[in-house]
Amino acid sequence: MKCELCGAEINEDEAKQIQGQKVCEDCYIDLAAKPKTCDPWAVYSAQNLSSSNITVNESQARIMAYLEKNGPTPPEKLAEDMDMSMDDFEREMAPLRHMEKVRAQLQDGRKVICLWQQGQC
Ligand SMILES: [Zn+2]
Repeated sequence: MKCELCGAEINEDEAKQIQGQKVCEDCYIDLAAKPKTCDPWAVYSAQNLSSSNITVNESQARIMAYLEKNGPTPPEKLAEDMDMSMDDFEREMAPLRHMEKVRAQLQDGRKVICLWQQGQC
């Protein structure tokens, strides 16, 4: 038979099945080494990998500890007490929001930051 990708002559029992195609060993290694980005399984495992790698850094841990102790806090005050510029603060906040660790809410018409689990704030 022939490899369905490169057309090389191969024995039936040497053929490898990948992505629904029977291919030679060379093509198989090639395909196996380079998963398509649109392959849902590859994307899924990549996401799994990155989420397991996500940890809060020191500043983010401080922000969360502060919120735990002090409850909902306006971002300006939080940044000031963290001794951070608003730019730095927002940079630390973005992943925390993304990880659903903290969220912003309106309290008496003012924006406050609170821990995600604190819910009503
Ligand atoms: Zn081949």
